[in-house]
Amino acid sequence: MSCLGCDLANAKFTVHTIYEDELVHCFLDINPFNEGHTLILPKRHVKELTELTYEETLAVMDAAKMISKKLNTLFEPDGITINQNGGKFSDLTHLHMHVIPRYENDGFTWSESTIQDGAHKRLAETANKLLRV
Ligand SMILES: [Zn+2]
Repeated sequence: MSCLGCDLANAKFTVHTIYEDELVHCFLDINPFNEGHTLILPKRHVKELTELTYEETLAVMDAAKMISKKLNTLFEPDGITINQNGGKFSDLTHLHMHVIPRYENDGFTWSESTIQDGAHKRLAETANKLLRV
C-alpha cells in the first residue's frame, strides 16, 4: 500500500528534519501555520492514535515535549498548540501530530460546534458512560 506519510516518515522524500529516532520522524510542515510548525510521524504505518504501541505513544509525546522546548527557546511564542486529527479529519492516511507555535491574534481558531445537542447539560451522564467503556 502506498502511503505518503510512510514515505515522509521514512525519508523517501527530502524533508526538513528537526528530530528523528528509531520510532518517530519530526520535520517542518511544508505549509506552516507559523514559522517552526512541526509534524511528528511514527515511522511504522499507523493511521489512528489508538493504533500506536505504548513505546510509540511515549516516543510521540516525548517528541512533542522536546519540539515544544525547541520552539519556545527559538521563537518565544505566546503558546504552543498540539493537534492531531483522526478519521475523516486527517489529511494523510498516516498518523501525524502538529506542533504549532502560536501568537496572540495569529488567526488560529477553535470554533464552537454547530451541533446544538445540549452536551454541556449532560457532563455527569457522559462522564459515567465514558468511565464504563
Ligand atoms: Zn503510512
